[in-house]
Amino acid sequence: MAASLLPVAASSVEARDPLLAYGARIVGDDARTRIVIDFDREPRFSVHYIANPERIVVDLPATAFGFPAKDLAARGLFKDIRYGKMDEESARIVLTTAGPVKLALAKVQADETGNGHRLVLDAEMIDKKAFAELVKTQSWSDRTEAAQTTSAIPAPERAAPGDFVIAVDAGHGGIDTGAIGVDTKTEEKQVTLAFAKALTDRLNKEPGIKAFLTREDDEFLSLSQRVLIARQNHAGLFISLHADTLKQKDIRGATVYTISDKASDKLAADLADRENLSDQIAGKETVAEPPEVADILLDLTRRETQAFSISLAESVLNSFKDQVGTINNPHRHAGFRVLQAPDVPSILLEIGFLSNAEDEKLLLDEAWRGKIAGLLTDAVKRYRAAVMANGG
Ligand SMILES: [Zn+2]
Repeated sequence: MAASLLPVAASSVEARDPLLAYGARIVGDDARTRIVIDFDREPRFSVHYIANPERIVVDLPATAFGFPAKDLAARGLFKDIRYGKMDEESARIVLTTAGPVKLALAKVQADETGNGHRLVLDAEMIDKKAFAELVKTQSWSDRTEAAQTTSAIPAPERAAPGDFVIAVDAGHGGIDTGAIGVDTKTEEKQVTLAFAKALTDRLNKEPGIKAFLTREDDEFLSLSQRVLIARQNHAGLFISLHADTLKQKDIRGATVYTISDKASDKLAADLADRENLSDQIAGKETVAEPPEVADILLDLTRRETQAFSISLAESVLNSFKDQVGTINNPHRHAGFRVLQAPDVPSILLEIGFLSNAEDEKLLLDEAWRGKIAGLLTDAVKRYRAAVMANGG
């Protein structure tokens, strides 16, 4: 084989080339459903079950999914099917089921030609008790789930002591595509990353400000990882960027969210619920929140952070005035899990809505992206000046 003639370094790079999943089919009904995925090479895979809601997670090495999405549209026992990149070395398929289900068969077979590698997954209904047993007795040890939460934390380059460090968070990523645009079918995760990059570049032009991205490419980060990355880098601000969809397609414009236990309104509550689903989409187990620490200092910190978050939100809306359209009551609040750092003032900015055709056009416009980045930078500078004037 030609590859063996290549220097060692090149062949080890080749070994990490992603698998190609080039075809997929789904057949069956509510009693039994079969999924077949064609790979160019034999995939190693592992299967796990997660409850609340019931999901089957199939972990794979890095994989490029090259088949049309409609070929693996949910049907039969599956009510939602997602697949995509988790990190550089792994991909995942998450099958959300309509009830307790198990894979009666999960194996790689040759295709009719005797070549090719087909992953065949046969799902069948089981009872709740049997599913609970599956979840309880399975082992995750064949995959280093823990490694994902401690994977490389990006660090802001050349942050000098005294720099104002800002974590810029591109919402969604990897297996979690986020919303899909009405017209161009643009994925929210691409829009957020483009904005996050533009904002980071713009902020880094300011002396004394060091901005960095929580994710630099199309990969999945759990909500708690995003918070952790900001805190470990001693960020003084956390800005999460989004461009979601709403059922009401006529609503357009920007919204700024801060965290609160009680949502300001139904729109905010629904949006927070959907954003908080991100971990579930990626097949993350919902980890019970740690018990609230009865620490008066932590409580004070939280309250202070909350006040700073609100002041940043107001500064952003001041910058947007007469420049960028906003929805009614553009400062709203709800229980966004990505905004829960107790010590990092955080906002979530919905730049616009991918459910509105005009917003979608703007969201894809590079010049508009630059304008928003500039206005946000002004807002950050004003916020920082106010905090410093108050001895913060
Ligand atoms: Zn979003």
